[in-house]
Amino acid sequence: MKKDVIIIGAGITGLTCAHQLKRKGCNVRILECKDRVGGQINSVEADGFVFESGPNTGVVKYPEVAELFESLTGKCELETALDSSKRRLIWKGNSFHALPSSLPTALRTPLFTWRDKFRILGEPWRSKGKNPNESVGSLAERRLGKSYVDYAVDPFLSGVYAGNPYNLPARLALPRLYNLEQEYGSFIRGAIAKARIPKTERDKKATKKVFASRGGFSRLVEALTESIGEGNIITSASNIKVNPADNNTWTVTYDKQGENVSLTANYVVTTCGAYSLPSLLPFVEESTMADLSNLYYAPVIQIGAGIRNCKGHQWKAFGALVPSRENKDMLGILFPSAFFVGRSPEEGAAFAYFIGGTRHPEYLQKSDEELIGIVNKGLTEMLKYPEGTQADSIRIFRHERAIPQYEESSDARFAAVRKVQEQYPTLTIAGNLRDGIGIGDRIKQAFDVAEDIANK
Ligand SMILES: Cc1cc2nc3c(=O)[nH]c(=O)nc-3n(C[C@H](O)[C@H](O)[C@H](O)COP(=O)(O)OP(=O)(O)OC[C@H]3O[C@@H](n4cnc5c(N)ncnc54)[C@H](O)[C@@H]3O)c2cc1C
Repeated sequence: MKKDVIIIGAGITGLTCAHQLKRKGCNVRILECKDRVGGQINSVEADGFVFESGPNTGVVKYPEVAELFESLTGKCELETALDSSKRRLIWKGNSFHALPSSLPTALRTPLFTWRDKFRILGEPWRSKGKNPNESVGSLAERRLGKSYVDYAVDPFLSGVYAGNPYNLPARLALPRLYNLEQEYGSFIRGAIAKARIPKTERDKKATKKVFASRGGFSRLVEALTESIGEGNIITSASNIKVNPADNNTWTVTYDKQGENVSLTANYVVTTCGAYSLPSLLPFVEESTMADLSNLYYAPVIQIGAGIRNCKGHQWKAFGALVPSRENKDMLGILFPSAFFVGRSPEEGAAFAYFIGGTRHPEYLQKSDEELIGIVNKGLTEMLKYPEGTQADSIRIFRHERAIPQYEESSDARFAAVRKVQEQYPTLTIAGNLRDGIGIGDRIKQAFDVAEDIANK
């Protein structure tokens, strides 16, 4: 008998999981509260530009990313970024500087102090940290020096988490970095040792390249929707409740167009944010639910901005990050048309500004005019376009709950997930409340969940 699976949430996690389950012969249905699929993914075409509301890029850090696109051949295409994306810029003083990528550039860069440049030579011999809750900032400061935290780690964490390096435990936010120190005693020795580990043919698919779906991430969402079958995705389903029923089954109820609908399934997978779980899973005991849903999401405003006739992208780089101590309005600016094709008219340039995060959550209240002012000021003062240059096209995307912060409370959340899943083995609590926030992490988790259900 075919397994019946209901997935809550039609973001990349839910859609990928449904696609994989269907390929493994299961019946799948997705319930989504919004009137559209994609969750945080939404590519908007405007005036010849492609602007992303959510993620612009991912990293092919697991074979599953390549395999997902292989399974969708003919429906959408994996686009890896041009080599220009290897160049990353950091704002310091009154200009951008390239993040060093070699020893000579590391010695020449004005980003780090001379003291820390010499200090890094001793990194392989520095002793191992003993505090499992040490923050990313403290770990990097201890091993590399404060200027590396200020001008590399802080902007990097703003770019990934929109978060503060001193609030995020390295073990939870950057587990790979944390493990390099714990397993090898040093970042440098660990990186060298890891690079020497022989790779299987499957491992080699994890190229670590920056990627998107050609034309924008919504093309991937459309391809997944087609593969799952539109009829299996129910949008605008409000007031969803999941409850255990007899014979190891689940009852899932929801409201749509004034009607209350009841479904049954053998398996349920939730992929929505932690804040949705209390109303979704009413049978979970109060204290366990408190641990499950205790997760802060940093707000982020993303602004897509395009200039039409500027002889193409002058900035041949991935983008520019702005350290906290530089006191600017934005966390960073991405240059999508510098490394993906077709993101702007031929002579134009597309930018994505990131504003807010844990650094400035209050910016979510700024008006459109104020935000447009920040964009145009950035074009001239930071990106050095001629005085008076204004974006020809602008789209503002406000995300009140954008990026989950894997703070110390995460241990209790993970334990609560395990507890509920042990009690109810046919329920999976997935999504970006665990296992990483990047698109690659989401795809990998969805593959794992589908595999697990198919093998049960
Ligand atoms: C502005 C921004 C920029 C980002 N940039 C990047 C990037 O460049 N690279 C990268 O790797 N990652 C990036 N991320 C993170 C990444 O986009 C997300 O982690 C990922 O898209 C989350 O996918 P998901 O399917 O797990 O969750 P979501 O996309 O949040 O999907 C969950 C779905 O569940 C639905 N839902 C919620 N509650 C309920 C309910 N009660 N009933 C039914 N449905 C419900 C929601 O409507 C949503 O559709 C970014 C995120 C944001 C917001």
